Amino acid sequence: MKFNTIAIHGGYTPDATTKAVAVPIYQTTSYAFDNTQHGADLFDLKVAGNIYTRIMNPTTSVLEERLAQLEGGIGALAVASGSAAITYAIQTIAEAGDNIIASSALYGGTFNLFTHTLPRLGIEVRFVDVDHPEQILQLADEKTKLVYCESISNPAIKVADIPQFAQLAHQVGVPLIVDNTVATPVLCRPLTLGADIVVESLTKYLGGHGNSLGGAIIDSGKFDWKAQSKRFSCLTEPDSAYHGVNYSEHFGAAAFIARARVVPLRNTGAAISPTNVFLILQGIETVALRIKQHCENALAIAQFLQKHPQVAWVNYPALSDSPYKALIDRDFQGKSSGLLSFGIRGGREAGAKLIDALQLFIRLVNIGDTRSLACHPASTTHRQLSGEELTRAGVSEDMVRLSVGIEDIDDLLADLSQALEKAQ
Ligand SMILES: *Cc1c(COP(=O)(O)O)cnc(C)c1O
Repeated sequence: MKFNTIAIHGGYTPDATTKAVAVPIYQTTSYAFDNTQHGADLFDLKVAGNIYTRIMNPTTSVLEERLAQLEGGIGALAVASGSAAITYAIQTIAEAGDNIIASSALYGGTFNLFTHTLPRLGIEVRFVDVDHPEQILQLADEKTKLVYCESISNPAIKVADIPQFAQLAHQVGVPLIVDNTVATPVLCRPLTLGADIVVESLTKYLGGHGNSLGGAIIDSGKFDWKAQSKRFSCLTEPDSAYHGVNYSEHFGAAAFIARARVVPLRNTGAAISPTNVFLILQGIETVALRIKQHCENALAIAQFLQKHPQVAWVNYPALSDSPYKALIDRDFQGKSSGLLSFGIRGGREAGAKLIDALQLFIRLVNIGDTRSLACHPASTTHRQLSGEELTRAGVSEDMVRLSVGIEDIDDLLADLSQALEKAQ
């Protein structure tokens, strides 16, 4: 099946007993065992079946199968948020004493996780410039467990050369994990470009309507854990964290995604609600149609802003003069989502005025909604930072970020025009 067919049918055929066409919401915490032996066999992974919704749920299984097909993986794990997906993907193979290597062009929440939370848990994070992945070779050692980057980064809107990141990660013997939240599998499928694992927030474009949090990990099944069996002994030797199971032997190519489910998810519990899964599945059915419109609107706005006298610069990777245009054409079908940023003349003050004058664009910090959203980091999310600190965080005083929605382009342009005028 091709993309749009999978988005609608992947992982589900009308339910055998009820013939329900829409995926049913199995709003249950637990599942009955036939008898004691059946319960024991389920826990020992001797038979497949449902135990408890923290670990698996029939509604969630449909989402996992659909995402695995859309990203081109062999299995997926859905969890409560994108942040949980990122944390669990790392905790599946890294522990205290280990290190990971990450691009520094990251989502703010991920940057905090990597600079504060993981180091306090004993996992060191070594940063590379997204435009210079060759730095990976200097930073890797025998305690390195993975390389991490965002395909299109939020909020800096930089683009990673995924094949190059993958080649370098493999050269030092570790998998590449790519956060594909902004690009979505509509524009880019990192697993087909050499990445080993995808993580993504379903809260943004995939759910797409700003109503539910969710996240997922998708496993390509291609990384050879046994070839690095000392480094990845948690997958290649019996695991005392789960009934002494050897994941590589028991699950074969699906060792990673199996451990993600039965260790980090089972033991720390950021399970997704089946009702959120239902809403996200509704969103996924139309994701390709929406992304097309997000991209068309964002390109039109980027071109409008480029010509506007009050705009100092525009960062949208699909623009013909963007330094990332060649990568966007090669790996992202020439499109770069609804996310763009620009610099307004007049700095911090003009930025705040512009945001206040917007009537249709909503003032908030989310992305990937059907609605158009705007934020001025220097006066909101980053307001406590000095000019110098802003630069280090990849944010300038004049920077306005837009997440362009799927409204009529004429209305969006009219709103921006009048707000730019008032910001003068
Ligand atoms: C929002 C976002 C996340 C975190 O997702 P949540 O669902 O909000 O936890 C991770 N990565 C990127 C690129 C994001 O934009």
